[in-house]
Amino acid sequence: MRPSQVKKFQEQQAKFASSVAKRTERIKTLWNKIQSQTSSEFCELEELVMEAHKLAGTATTLGFVDLGECGREIEVLLKPHIESQTLPAAIDDIDRLIAGIDDIAKIEPKRPDDFTFGEVTLLHEKDRTKQLVYVVAENPDDVSEMVKQLQYIDYEVILLETATQLKDALYNKAPSVLIVDLNDFQLLDDITRVWRKNSGIPLVVLSKTECWESRLHAAKAGAYTFFHKPVEYDDILGLLDSLWETNNAQYRVLIVEDDRTLAEHYSIVLQGAGMKTSIVDNPHQLLDELGEFHPDLVLMDLYMPECSGVEAASVIRQHASNTNVPIVYLSGETDLKLQMKALQVGADDFLTKPINDLHLTQAVSIRARRFRALSAMMDRDSLTGLLNHSNLKMALERELSRARRHKSPVSFVMIDIDYFKSINDKYGHPVGDKVIKGVARLLNYRFRKTDTSARYGGEEFALILPDTPADIALRLIDEIRITFAKTPFSNGPETFTATLSAGIATFPEFDSTESIIEAADSSLYLAKERGRNRVITHVELGERHDSQEKNTA
Ligand code: GH3
Ligand code: MG
Ligand code: MG
Ligand code: MG
Repeated sequence: MRPSQVKKFQEQQAKFASSVAKRTERIKTLWNKIQSQTSSEFCELEELVMEAHKLAGTATTLGFVDLGECGREIEVLLKPHIESQTLPAAIDDIDRLIAGIDDIAKIEPKRPDDFTFGEVTLLHEKDRTKQLVYVVAENPDDVSEMVKQLQYIDYEVILLETATQLKDALYNKAPSVLIVDLNDFQLLDDITRVWRKNSGIPLVVLSKTECWESRLHAAKAGAYTFFHKPVEYDDILGLLDSLWETNNAQYRVLIVEDDRTLAEHYSIVLQGAGMKTSIVDNPHQLLDELGEFHPDLVLMDLYMPECSGVEAASVIRQHASNTNVPIVYLSGETDLKLQMKALQVGADDFLTKPINDLHLTQAVSIRARRFRALSAMMDRDSLTGLLNHSNLKMALERELSRARRHKSPVSFVMIDIDYFKSINDKYGHPVGDKVIKGVARLLNYRFRKTDTSARYGGEEFALILPDTPADIALRLIDEIRITFAKTPFSNGPETFTATLSAGIATFPEFDSTESIIEAADSSLYLAKERGRNRVITHVELGERHDSQEKNTA
């Protein structure tokens, strides 16, 4: 756990600890009432089971394992009797459990460092702009090309030659990814002694051999991906893109749970893994929050006082816009039949409380990722993953009206690859596609925060830069231009480079979608005319108009 998480976790433990007496008292009271009842109806039975159930879930999650276990036992013993309204034969067992509950509550909870979920947070802790990559290779020459490529895209690469060096480096800082270049498997065996499978750092193996044994060896070592050498750099970059995407996706998870403490705990765990969360503890707020928060997944408690999770899920599904959002039940329900019934409402899965934090994070992120991928197919371009043309226009309209409200500048940029037709002609269409992806990657990587880079058409791109005046935009785009011109692309053993031109126009100088696009396009045209591999803003465009007017005057 990170220090900030440890603190939050301890606060939650303390909060829970202070509520324990009230919870156990309630259980004892209910049990006494049930026992003193003379009629054949035990109306408190259901409430008692509910209390025991909550205790089982929350206590275990917060490290009060024995107390949680006790709650679970009470629940299991009493639950079958709710419907029949009878007392179980094992009254003595329940008596014993409930009599001892206060002592059990005094057992020290597990400390935060006994928990595992710190491991998965490693990947998500990177606030810095450059991603760190460790490359281990016995022969640095074998990987020098790849290292250069990565550096051009702006990854920070540290080249290491031995497992010992890796050990020191790992101790110093955790990278986003570890790439190992193998000529034989001895190096991999050495590395598995200093890098742990569950460290959260994906291991990428580049291997000279490709037989089943090699692949199995790598898989056993815990490799995330296996590449046979020589490796296409584009494949490695694609892999890093998808890792980056996963780590920065910031999935939004809506937690529907009546037990606030438990909800906050899930929230912390998921936030620790880089997700955004929102809690609904009253079903009345559910629909509003769905509309506001746009979750990638709903984590749904099964038992709540006002309505069941299954009922809440069916209300969600009544709305056409919510038919696809994944719903995952989270509950102590272990009865398979009931689980199946719950799933029939159109929910996606069932996770059983208490759930291990790592398991929760993974279960949630896998489903949220799939949901995102499906949504992306609708509004993103398939080759590059950038926004497509029509969504760009909508985004531009949105940004312009925002800028009008806030009286802030917006720069709109059009980018076009120079002489792209001849790249296609010389190297073929697939290589041309790699160059297109190269530009997309650069834009994606540099402008991740604004998230409005788009593929405008074939080899044309567009960017919306909110709160950015023309001079700053010019500087940013010129950096992109320079980096791109140096980025090598491979066509078999041969490498080549390409260049791009860009045109910029800015709000408020141009204040409609049409006029700002047209001005950026004219600036781009001027950049081409002036010899390509350059960036021109509407300011220069204006100067040219002025001088033309002077010439004709
Ligand atoms: P300029 O410097 O003036 O921009 O010249 P250019 O050759 O880049 O411009 P032109 O518009 O003449 O050529 C663009 C080419 O891009 C033509 C088209 O076949 C190619 N193209 C469009 N979409 C794709 C694509 O998705 N993949 C590939 N490989 N090529 C594409
Ligand atoms: Mg509940
Ligand atoms: Mg073009
Ligand atoms: Mg072009």
